[in-house]
Amino acid sequence: MIRVHKGEAPEVLHRLGPRWVQRHSVEFDARQADYEIGATTMAIREHVYGHPTVREALAAAQHGKCCYCEVAIEHPYMLRHVEHWRPKGAVKQGPGEPVQYPGYYWLAYEWDNLLLSCGVCNSGYKSIVFPLADDNGRARNHHEDVGVEEPQLLKPDRDDPEPHIEWIDDQPRGRSEIGWKTIETVGLVREDDVKRSREYNELRKAHHRLLKCSGNEHIALVREIANECRQRLEQSVLPTSQYSAMAKAFIATHTTEI
Ligand SMILES: [Zn+2]
Repeated sequence: MIRVHKGEAPEVLHRLGPRWVQRHSVEFDARQADYEIGATTMAIREHVYGHPTVREALAAAQHGKCCYCEVAIEHPYMLRHVEHWRPKGAVKQGPGEPVQYPGYYWLAYEWDNLLLSCGVCNSGYKSIVFPLADDNGRARNHHEDVGVEEPQLLKPDRDDPEPHIEWIDDQPRGRSEIGWKTIETVGLVREDDVKRSREYNELRKAHHRLLKCSGNEHIALVREIANECRQRLEQSVLPTSQYSAMAKAFIATHTTEI
């Protein structure tokens, strides 16, 4: 996970978002009890929050990668899940905890609440989980203030994850309580993640080759190999590269040897 820098909200959210929030709010006030037990659910408009301009803006800000695990999200296009950081339709304090309704419907079209994630992070792990330091302090509807909540989930478009998550080889480890909670919530420990392991092994190989070259770079061929390895390692930490947080940690721990 790395820090994501989002630009301005796409126009569709300004144009249609407030109208739908207003409608959902009126609906909620009219049948609050039904919404709170989940007997009625809010019809959140995907054509608004999931509008192509929203997806494209998020994809550009995140360099086409998942906001949590940094995997490149390939086509088909619809596999790019628009992730509601605060879940829109229902919410749980943790896996196995009771489902609470109606979710943060009033933030469903808020640019600040939207990210792009892969299916594994979104559907496989996080889903409707949104842990707070105190579940009793949760804002339950549009009359309540989310500002009093203390979320235990890093927000990639606000927080720098680096002080909270470190990497031991190809697996993340918490440096703080919120770091651990984030790793657990989006399931970042993935020992069976073949793509991530492959990238880690590539980095190790490049580093190993570079070490073997050092001291012999007066020979043109060796110099060429060394440059190639250096470039490979330098490229791996760019925000456009998959798993750049892991690569950055790798370089940091091996930098004295290069
Ligand atoms: Zn992911």
